[in-house]
Amino acid sequence: MSWGSTYDVVVVGSGGAALAGALAATHRGLSVCVIEKTDRFGGTSAYSGGSVWLPGNHVLERQGVDDSVEKGLTYFSALVGDRTRSEVQRAYLETGPVVADFLENTVGIPLEHRPFPDYFDAPGRSANGRSIFAHPISAEEVGDRLDDIRPMVPADQFGIDIDRSMLDGGQAWIARMILALDASGRAELRLSTPVTALVQDEDGRVTGVVVTGPDGDRSRIQARAGVLLAAGGFERAPHLRAKWQDMPTADWSSSHPDTGSGDALTLAESAGAATDLLDQSWWCPATLFPNGHAAFTLGVRAGIIVDSTGRRFANEMLPYDRMGRAMRERMQLGHGDAFWFVFDNSFGDDLPAICVPAPGREELTAAGLWHTAGDIAELAAAIGVDSTALASTVRRFNEFAERGRDEDFSRGEDPFGRFFVGATTPEPCLRPVDGSQLHAVRLVLGDLGTKGGAVITTEGAVERPDGTVVPGLYAAGNSAASVAGPVYPGPGVPLGSGMVMAYRAVADMAD
Ligand code: FAD
Repeated sequence: MSWGSTYDVVVVGSGGAALAGALAATHRGLSVCVIEKTDRFGGTSAYSGGSVWLPGNHVLERQGVDDSVEKGLTYFSALVGDRTRSEVQRAYLETGPVVADFLENTVGIPLEHRPFPDYFDAPGRSANGRSIFAHPISAEEVGDRLDDIRPMVPADQFGIDIDRSMLDGGQAWIARMILALDASGRAELRLSTPVTALVQDEDGRVTGVVVTGPDGDRSRIQARAGVLLAAGGFERAPHLRAKWQDMPTADWSSSHPDTGSGDALTLAESAGAATDLLDQSWWCPATLFPNGHAAFTLGVRAGIIVDSTGRRFANEMLPYDRMGRAMRERMQLGHGDAFWFVFDNSFGDDLPAICVPAPGREELTAAGLWHTAGDIAELAAAIGVDSTALASTVRRFNEFAERGRDEDFSRGEDPFGRFFVGATTPEPCLRPVDGSQLHAVRLVLGDLGTKGGAVITTEGAVERPDGTVVPGLYAAGNSAASVAGPVYPGPGVPLGSGMVMAYRAVADMAD
């Protein structure tokens, strides 16, 4: 098959990493083709809060945040240690400010910092975090491109009408990057075009991709400088989740069922890539909905979370990945995959946490995912946990609440947990569960994407098991083994590391 078209750079996928890489290409004078498998751009990045973790960048400085690359590196390396290569960690952290500057001052995307604490008590932690966000953008400004952008989770997975007159978070990033690519005159963006194979020459160099276009026709697209795999992870591929992560289902991931299909992993492996961290995800608790989807749940403000034994097993106000890891540990210990968020009606009957979309009580009750009872025995019977154990758990927690100190899990002692309660001391984080009505809502182990994939160098080049690179092939975002290893250091590391490594990959292609 001959080449159907030719570009300098081919980018597979259209999330944050992909679009940042594509912009880096256009600004280096390279032609780029962004190829998206589904009928919408943005992937899971379009669902995201849009926080991008880049320590020591100019936006933080402008807004008076005391930070530096070295402080960020101290923090990051204290957590991740030698679980990933120190030179890749340094490459991410040192290039972060360069990418922030590029996006705002070269591309023209207005940026702002919003406070969101780092996730661990470690040297170099920033109480306000190091997140930057693209300014919201109006639908009017996005124009015809609006319909090409994957909408937020409530609309995309739950059929709920949402107001899209103003795009914020991940939506704003995707919209602004697409508009900038359109304006560049050097980018072609294709929808409904899965990349099905990589093309390699006799020396093993990746020279292009094979795609199936919207009309079903197969063709080959040549990439003169390189191919960037930024096609997300494999969170929605049941066989890969079962094989690598022993997950009972792929349905609890927050990603859309059509994205996160694991294509990038398959493509990288087909070219001889080494892989790593395949047992890892960006984990989170998730509220199970009747349609089988599970919604990312964070910012617990009251209540407790118990496992199938009726016991607490962690500080419910932990950052979501750390809570998810605690849930995963319970599952691995054989305690099953049913978790229950138990709370009372002291502050109303809504879930005392952030969950998008907010779960409807009636709908979840009808599906057996939300139970309400007048006392603990009745609630325990409804959710199938041992009544004595649940009663003892609630009693103990209420004693902690009275004393203002969680002796089991130190809830409320870390600024992250207090952030969502708006508290400065632990006491407001420890409200007793003793109202006249008790609720239990089913939680499962969810994720924001997998984080294992192709092993990459400091330049984002895909490595073979023998340490040589696959010439012409690069990976970033959840298609690459994460620089954060099995840790989620702070809000915006998935997008931040993906965007930076994509930027570095394209710089390497251009050299
Ligand atoms: P994606 O954004 O998933 O993009 C991959 C794209 O590749 C998809 O569009 C997919 O369809 C496409 N694709 C797949 N296979 C092919 C193929 N064969 N051919 C062509 N295209 C293909 N992270 C943060 O850093 N900050 C946050 O604030 C944040 N908030 C989040 C909030 C929510 C609700 C969720 C669900 C996640 C959040 N995350 C956040 C996590 C983050 O969104 C993801 O980890 C990140 O978006 C992954 O980016 P990516 O570029 O690797 O892949």
